[in-house]
Amino acid sequence: MKVVVAILGLGISAWCAEAASPVSGVTPAMAATANQLIDLAKQENHGYELVRSLTTEVGPRLAGTEAEARARQWAVEKLQALGLQNVHVESFKVPVWMRGIEFAEIVSPFPQSLTITALGGSSSTGEQGVEAEVVVFDSLSALQQAPRRQVQGKIVFIDEIMARSRDGSGYANAVRKRRAAAYVSQQMGAVAALIRSVGTSSHRFAHAGQMRQADVGGESGVPTAALAAPDADQLMRALGYGKPVIVRLVIAPQLLPPASSGNVIGEIIGREAPQEIVLVGAHLDSWDLGTGAVDDGAGIGIILGAAKLIMEQLPKGPRRTIRVVLFGAEEVGTVGAKAYTRQHAAQLSDHIVATESDFGAGDIWRFDSRIGEDKISQMAAIVKVLERLGIAPGNNIAGGGPDLKYLREAGVPIVSLLQDGQDYFDFHHTADDTLDKVGPRSLDQNVAAYAAFMYLAAETSADFR
Ligand SMILES: [Zn+2]
Repeated sequence: MKVVVAILGLGISAWCAEAASPVSGVTPAMAATANQLIDLAKQENHGYELVRSLTTEVGPRLAGTEAEARARQWAVEKLQALGLQNVHVESFKVPVWMRGIEFAEIVSPFPQSLTITALGGSSSTGEQGVEAEVVVFDSLSALQQAPRRQVQGKIVFIDEIMARSRDGSGYANAVRKRRAAAYVSQQMGAVAALIRSVGTSSHRFAHAGQMRQADVGGESGVPTAALAAPDADQLMRALGYGKPVIVRLVIAPQLLPPASSGNVIGEIIGREAPQEIVLVGAHLDSWDLGTGAVDDGAGIGIILGAAKLIMEQLPKGPRRTIRVVLFGAEEVGTVGAKAYTRQHAAQLSDHIVATESDFGAGDIWRFDSRIGEDKISQMAAIVKVLERLGIAPGNNIAGGGPDLKYLREAGVPIVSLLQDGQDYFDFHHTADDTLDKVGPRSLDQNVAAYAAFMYLAAETSADFR
């Protein structure tokens, strides 16, 4: 309330300035409010407190499980406590894949165990496991080009190293083998497949992750697991002796019948144009090995922390509606994102802009967009306000987050508040994705940027299509 009074004081001259500069879309009064939100975000740790609460009270929350249902309940209670309106769950079904026992060892010539984890969606070896000679390839395409006789009856091992980068761009290439290895190996007559983990850590944690979208049927693929990076190194050293290397792999996951998942939605209803929607997302589900602090507890904390600031400081809400969407079942193939796009198909033309926080807890350093070329100057006025947080303007080919794929394809304008992801793939989908990897100061910077962006995009009358 204090803030609003201060802004009304500023507002008299601000309205004149607005009339003088209609294209910018951001008046001095709006910039002042955004700056107040930024200042307040730095004084609170509310985003961090939400991540602590989610990762402690719910912990791991695999799609379609009872734990993910508890996460939805947690989210409904938090959104209601923040005072958001229209808080509800939009349900959908998702196939449930449950990890079972998992174990691997070099049987000969140098017997020893290997650190692995089954890939999401993998078929089972049965409890007796499979034992076979390993054949190594340095990429998925090398496997695809190999003669079948080289692969038949063997355990395929794809040893491809992922490049570390600030924007996480190494992931797109590295993840191809995770998605396809099981199926390509099956087509070529292999009995199982191993991949070097899709990740950048040198620690002994294997990185889980979905092989392919859980809602696509068809072939089952051979049982497939990821090796921790040091174990991939060790297997390569063993292969370097030029003798056959025999590995035994035991993974016994189960594919259960489809169960309920859901997207949790809450809104800050717009005071003048409630039908116009600024969508802000993150995903509620996580992999099962860690507690999903970095992926994507951080995103949940960031956008709810930002929503809390706006609720507390702007009792009447911005002009447009801010819709918070906590997507379910992202990890197993963006199933919640598909459901949202389907359930809101008639409303997509009213989605003014959408953004998602799903890249950990690092500082935001760049602002990308995917909007009408002639609307870039209007967005630039918003980015200008974020400059003091160390955020620079980027390109106009933003991807948004994974859950925005279908909105993007439907023509909804997208922005990406790009986080520093240097170490994101050290923890991603591992047992090491825990709260200690989330820095409270970085989370505050994220909350500040999201609060300012959400407010400005919802307050301006600019259109970004
Ligand atoms: Zn994620």
